[in-house]
Amino acid sequence: MTAGLSRMFWWHQQVGDNLEVGFTNTSAGNLALHVGDDPDAVLRRRAELESVMGVRPGSLRFMNQIHSASVAEAAGPGCAAPTADGLISLDGAAPLAVMVADCVPVLLAGAGPEGMPVTAAVHAGRRGLLDNILPEAVERMRAAGGTALRAWIGPCVCGRCYEVPADMHAESAALLPATAATTRTGTPALDLPAGAEAQLAGLGVAVERIAGCTLENDQLFSHRRDPASGRFAGVIWRRS
Ligand SMILES: [Zn+2]
Ligand SMILES: [Zn+2]
Repeated sequence: MTAGLSRMFWWHQQVGDNLEVGFTNTSAGNLALHVGDDPDAVLRRRAELESVMGVRPGSLRFMNQIHSASVAEAAGPGCAAPTADGLISLDGAAPLAVMVADCVPVLLAGAGPEGMPVTAAVHAGRRGLLDNILPEAVERMRAAGGTALRAWIGPCVCGRCYEVPADMHAESAALLPATAATTRTGTPALDLPAGAEAQLAGLGVAVERIAGCTLENDQLFSHRRDPASGRFAGVIWRRS
């Protein structure tokens, strides 16, 4: 791992031939253009991230995330970011990013046709998770010929910290029972990563959970801890 990677990433791993996955930390800075930050500074940080990832400048694909269950195919560099909450690359060639600050970032990879990987990056907040964005992404990857799918669930707010109103707890538990949780003080809570893991495992996807609660770690951005917070990113890419 290069010095840049270890400095800018909370966790990073090579997971296959040239295929790498990771989640940035606050040292990589805010990577989102929609949180009121200086756009030039955000673009400089994205360029620095691409440089340590070893991908071409401007090649990292982002999406305009709206807590939907829509998955879009990654377009070429220079195209506008699609409005979606899942990005898929049919040959793994496009480096993909999902931005979060408490929601669940999920990276997926599978063996695709002609020896190329199929990859995806998914923004699984409460709404998207309950609306089945993960099954949608898995279905799209399999439709593209993806097999032996693996998923990495990144740092997000944990089930002991994510307090919600009782009616929201009941709705979530009815739709996805594994999300039902209680806070340290015994109030209704949601465990979104547990819900994501249960859903993916139920679809036959091999899941790895990366430790780290965003609310409890100030090396990660948390919208609940700081409503003016930036966003960190989950990224999946092939080193060229
Ligand atoms: Zn979110
Ligand atoms: Zn926590």
